[in-house]
Amino acid sequence: MPIDISPAILDQCTDILDAEVLNTRYIGGGDINVARILETNKGRFFFKMNSGKDAFSMFAAESMGLKLMAKANVIGVPKVLGLGQNGQQAFLLLEFIEKAEHIPDDFWESFGQQLAALHKNTSDQFGLDHNNFIGSLPQVNDRRNDWVSFYIECRLEPQVKMACDSKLLHRTHLHQFESLYRYLPELMPPEAPALIHGDLWSGNFMCSIKARPYLVDPAVCYAHREMDLAMSKLFGGFDRRFYLAYEEAFPLQPGFGQRLKPFQLYYLMVHLNLFGSSYLNSVSEILNHYS
Ligand code: ADP
Repeated sequence: MPIDISPAILDQCTDILDAEVLNTRYIGGGDINVARILETNKGRFFFKMNSGKDAFSMFAAESMGLKLMAKANVIGVPKVLGLGQNGQQAFLLLEFIEKAEHIPDDFWESFGQQLAALHKNTSDQFGLDHNNFIGSLPQVNDRRNDWVSFYIECRLEPQVKMACDSKLLHRTHLHQFESLYRYLPELMPPEAPALIHGDLWSGNFMCSIKARPYLVDPAVCYAHREMDLAMSKLFGGFDRRFYLAYEEAFPLQPGFGQRLKPFQLYYLMVHLNLFGSSYLNSVSEILNHYS
């Protein structure tokens, strides 16, 4: 297969890796970026490239998120090897993680335990010291002492504004969001800020050939830990052994069932803004419940 990466970017990769790139291979699975395996004289590496206007900032934020999760040292995270740009194009180079062909039974238990261990990393406030992205959308991480204010002001409101600006939401939806906001304090008992992956769908974890769970493509911040569980359940959910192991390692507060949809609302709003009006029904279903 031909090498389809520009010579200027290949030169930067050669410098970062101190290796000769022999070939590139297509790797599918992502939503946003062009992903490739770089085959070099020193082994394989994972490469992502994007030429959108925020591409370099996105990869810079992704690399900070990966490093923050790696620092917790409780779950697999590919090493960040470098990032760079040439004109409009930006790229990120990571350790290549070889995926297992089949997920073995004991994987789910380790994954649940290790995600729980990640979530035990806490901070004195919700938010983060920098803003980042979810998919290609900006994610605000202003620090807040109180989860409900953080969730409304830094998660839902920016998405609501984006959707109104692009006419995906209308005035009646805004009233419905206001009613939902009034319910949130009673639905959400105090919970310590937890280091979350932030975009935990099935394309963002991997089972390595050694059956080790790896997290990729994060939208990290210190948040309510149920955000990760809510996202994991948005499109069918992970294996039940994952949830059992998580709960055993780090039991949830009563009432998760009532918080699930309000938490999924953020991810549905992100989908609405990224992929368009086909997500509006799911958003409305949740809003109707609270108005
Ligand atoms: P995008 O930002 O476009 O969503 P991802 O970072 O999710 O891209 O990567 C796309 C796919 O590539 C993932 O679903 C995963 O299967 C695979 N992948 C991601 N990171 C690595 C890695 N470090 N090594 C090997 N494969 C990876």
